[in-house]
Amino acid sequence: MSIEVEKSNIQVVNSPAGVEGPGFFATSVDKVVGMARKNSIWPLPFATSCCGIEFMATMAAHYDMGRFGAERLSFSPRQADLLMVMGTIAKKMAPILRQVYMQMAEPRWVLSMGACASSGGIFDTYSVLQGIDRVIPVDVYVPGCPPRPEQVLDGILKIQELIQNESIRRRDTPQYKALLAEYGIE
Ligand code: SF4
Repeated sequence: MSIEVEKSNIQVVNSPAGVEGPGFFATSVDKVVGMARKNSIWPLPFATSCCGIEFMATMAAHYDMGRFGAERLSFSPRQADLLMVMGTIAKKMAPILRQVYMQMAEPRWVLSMGACASSGGIFDTYSVLQGIDRVIPVDVYVPGCPPRPEQVLDGILKIQELIQNESIRRRDTPQYKALLAEYGIE
């Protein structure tokens, strides 16, 4: 088997929109930072049950999240910028999830994977949190029980879209601070 890679198979990230001419290219800092962040996500997998197994399939070679620059998982909130919550979250665990979120540095994003994380799923019971957005803000919800890896990748693409288009000043805006304040986070 040949290990040569044809040039036509190599894809690089598209440059952001800008103005170009002979010998120069100009764009905004927002767009450059957005492009860099979008293609270097460090996810923290907060996996508690079966959705976590589906996430493992998403990380494996067949689906290969590395294609989106997001293959470097972090098990420390301090070195992660995407919190991926997958599985049933018991009410007892909610404060821990919230603490993990609060230990992440800005900018941070949250993806809720599957019915349980998003709404409690089939566990409409006294012990299960009926959706993680009761304790932390969520950016993207991925439906399903469990979602297929393609859906998880679609969620990652949606997160990438948000990251790319987010102003680098958004985290300092009164609207963002008000959102966190709703969750009692300063
Ligand atoms: S959504 Fe379904 S697959 Fe995912 S953790 Fe809940 S029960 Fe398991």
